[in-house]
Amino acid sequence: MSKVVKFGGSSLASAEQFRKVGDIIRADADRRYVVPSAPGKRFKEDTKVTDMLYACYDHAEQGIDFSGELSEIRSRYQEIIDGLELSVSLEEEFRVIEDSFKSGAGSNYAASRGEYLNGIIMAAYLGYAFIDAAEVICFDEDGAFNLDKTTRVLSARLEGYANAVIPGFYGALPDGTVKTFSRGGSDISGSIVAKVVQADVYENWTDVSGFLVADPGIVKHPKRIDVITYRELRELSYMGAAVMHEDAIFPVRQEGIPINIRNTNAPEDSGTWIVGSTCQKSRYVITGIAGKRGFCSVNIEKDMMNTEIGFGRKVLQAFEENGISFEHVPSGIDTMTVFVHQDEFVHKEQKVAACLYRLARPDAIEIEADLALIAVVGRGMKSTRGTAGRIFSALAHANVNVKMIDQGSSELNIIIGVANEDFETAIRAIYDIFVLTNL
Ligand code: ASP
Repeated sequence: MSKVVKFGGSSLASAEQFRKVGDIIRADADRRYVVPSAPGKRFKEDTKVTDMLYACYDHAEQGIDFSGELSEIRSRYQEIIDGLELSVSLEEEFRVIEDSFKSGAGSNYAASRGEYLNGIIMAAYLGYAFIDAAEVICFDEDGAFNLDKTTRVLSARLEGYANAVIPGFYGALPDGTVKTFSRGGSDISGSIVAKVVQADVYENWTDVSGFLVADPGIVKHPKRIDVITYRELRELSYMGAAVMHEDAIFPVRQEGIPINIRNTNAPEDSGTWIVGSTCQKSRYVITGIAGKRGFCSVNIEKDMMNTEIGFGRKVLQAFEENGISFEHVPSGIDTMTVFVHQDEFVHKEQKVAACLYRLARPDAIEIEADLALIAVVGRGMKSTRGTAGRIFSALAHANVNVKMIDQGSSELNIIIGVANEDFETAIRAIYDIFVLTNL
């Protein structure tokens, strides 16, 4: 059995946090490959080392003295080294970093040093081998991640190592130039390592005990989700529920490796399991609720629209020609409504409307702004009658006017459009009826 364990920035922000991580790893001999993030925030107003590195490099690039900022970064690491009573010296590393900053190594290189240095400390602390991600996580010349090459290089490299630390967040182009994933990308690195070593589990350790049924900023003390499928998670993440980088699902999903989200500060909690499929029913018909504000609806009316072949294509073409992606397209007999992101659409609305008139010749177009979309997601909905009914009666009782309903044929989610100002009330009402009342 082998487990790949990824630790997020807050789990590695101080020596005290490192000790917790050390205890977690030593408690289970299967935790063989460790993927660390850079040190995150130690307290709420603190700055993540990755952000410090970006800012520092920014000054270096502008020719502004950056020695003070670099030494602040250095003290973050020194504090950890001293707190762990290690004899590691980062002297030479920081000399190389300073020179590279001066010679314009790039912001990707700069940011990657956060995980690189933390990886060195982690390897020394655990007595594990350190493997520089620049040598084993491979990108193509155009910056696209190359999974085949990475699989070859990384598996060859790990042969003979029972344990290793591989820093997260970065890899390199074929010419050795360091390249990072997008922010939060250590989650992706962990998933890649798990796939390559064919791990039994990918444990992703963070500062919460897993995914919650709803946003704790909206619902007080929401329940935790015990088991969620990759597909359900995709739906919820897309709608704004965030614990892990969205793209981290793909590498492990291909191999059917489960992800276990765990809390470094409460290691006894079993966390959330993210799996391919499961016969385990979710506790409450629905698995989770998430949503976003800031949408516009463009309602296009045309008599006999239903008989006009190609009408839908023409409508969507008007959005495509203006570089606007659409979210949902519910339609009626003589109407079709297109939901778009308000910030993308607002500057182009007249151009889109003109284009719609030119291409689709509608009778009328009506635009409504300040809408929110809420996704109610759950694999359990498929086999349960009355889910939609319960949602809408809860919303009616809460005095929320429903503007749009869209249920995919997969019966995995129901999307509801409401006014921005009803957003939180609607989420609370749905949570209450399924989780609190759980009739
Ligand atoms: N340290 C990087 C960031 O702050 C990557 C990560 O933590 O996953 O985005």
